[in-house]
Amino acid sequence: MNAAKVLDALKHRFPNEAEYHQAVEEVLTTIEEEYNKHPEFDKANLIERLCIPDRVYQFRITWVDDKGNVQTNMGYRVQHNNAIGPYKGGIRFHSSVNLSILKFLAFEQTFKNSLTTLPMGGGKGGSDFSPRGKSTAEVMRFVQSFMLELWRHIGPETDVPAGDIGVGGREIGFMFGMYKKLTREFTGTFTGKGREFGGSLIRPEATGYGNIYFLMEMLKAKGTDLKGKICLVSGSGNVAQYTAEKVLELGGKVVTMSDSDGYIYDPDGIDSEKLNYIMELKNLNRGRIREYAETYGCKYVEGAKPWGEKGDIALPSATQNELNGDHARQLIANGCMAVSEGANMPSTPEAIKVFQDAKILYAPGKAANAGGVSVSGLEMTQNSIKLSWSAEEVDEKLKSIMVSIHEACVQYGTEADGYVNYVKGANVAGFMKVAKAMMAQGIL
Ligand code: NDP
Repeated sequence: MNAAKVLDALKHRFPNEAEYHQAVEEVLTTIEEEYNKHPEFDKANLIERLCIPDRVYQFRITWVDDKGNVQTNMGYRVQHNNAIGPYKGGIRFHSSVNLSILKFLAFEQTFKNSLTTLPMGGGKGGSDFSPRGKSTAEVMRFVQSFMLELWRHIGPETDVPAGDIGVGGREIGFMFGMYKKLTREFTGTFTGKGREFGGSLIRPEATGYGNIYFLMEMLKAKGTDLKGKICLVSGSGNVAQYTAEKVLELGGKVVTMSDSDGYIYDPDGIDSEKLNYIMELKNLNRGRIREYAETYGCKYVEGAKPWGEKGDIALPSATQNELNGDHARQLIANGCMAVSEGANMPSTPEAIKVFQDAKILYAPGKAANAGGVSVSGLEMTQNSIKLSWSAEEVDEKLKSIMVSIHEACVQYGTEADGYVNYVKGANVAGFMKVAKAMMAQGIL
């Protein structure tokens, strides 16, 4: 395999899909060496079969807003690869959603799910519908309309969606309800469900907690931990909130959080009382992070990212490409020693190069944020055996999965000088399992 050639062919076949090309390029360049040790892979054209999704569903959604206007949105489900288990991956509702973004996310999800050690394939879906500024009744009508199309493509052994940007407990509840009505079956087809109807304890916390468990493993290898470390967090949604919560619990200090309008900088630290305020602001009142600055009298910077502030650790937890090369250089200049990604692909390729050239600890989302889908996998198991585990049991399993993902990254990513290239480690480890399963199952 020649990574550049494969990428060129994909760009030609799927033009105008920049995020998808970016994600594929990162994987291909890091697995090329390992792939080429296996001539049987090339003979089976494994690489094209792995890069191109199994199938993509695309449909129009029609719904009526509170003023009686008829609205349309686009809906998608990308079923990327099911070599090691049913398709599994979140649903994103955001105005920026398009096929390129969902194809990148589904591609990444395939490797991430492989890393978790659980039997899950990769998929992703969503819509360009934005819940921002919509009433709960509008969100429900939209979701029900979305499900009228999606339901026929998913199922507990086929494809199991979960949440992502713009899709939290409220949206999953509405999706599950409509799916149940259409199929007349009560199954574990969604994860991230409410506790009362099959959801797992610790699922809301899992991505953020898992990211910090992974970070702790990286820090441990350097003989340090989180005590007294200043952390820059971006985002203020599900992942950011529980990332901050775990940092506080382990003795770190969170000084920034953000939303799509700007970021707040609180040099005194966002303590648990202030974090509760943010959770209420975002999850119940659906307000803006700016209101935190007004309440606690700290700095708010409109239209900017928090990466220019001084911190020991950066935890990007909002969205893709939110941390570029300039941000990365600023972080390094300010003494940042570790970056662990809660979001998917938040660092641009240039930023990743800056981190790796500076030899700081850098964990890609594919490894560091895999805790979310891991607990989704545990939710699927609990639904199958019709039992629910305690928070302690789930948290213990989550911790041990994050430790094993870290070990896999170290095994496949340690370079000659001892530096751990976590990108390479995660990609090679994730790839090998899927590749072997695909080889065993014939040419499909
Ligand atoms: P939420 O919708 O709960 O929160 C997203 C946060 O990011 C919000 O603060 C939002 O601001 C901000 N944001 C969204 N889009 C943009 C943008 N274009 N520019 C700047 N800020 C933006 O989503 P999650 O916390 O669930 O997801 C965050 C990231 O983590 C995503 O990359 C997601 O794919 C990834 N992830 C999530 C998992 C999960 O379990 N939920 C699992 C693994 C990864 P605003 O309030 O203004 O919309």
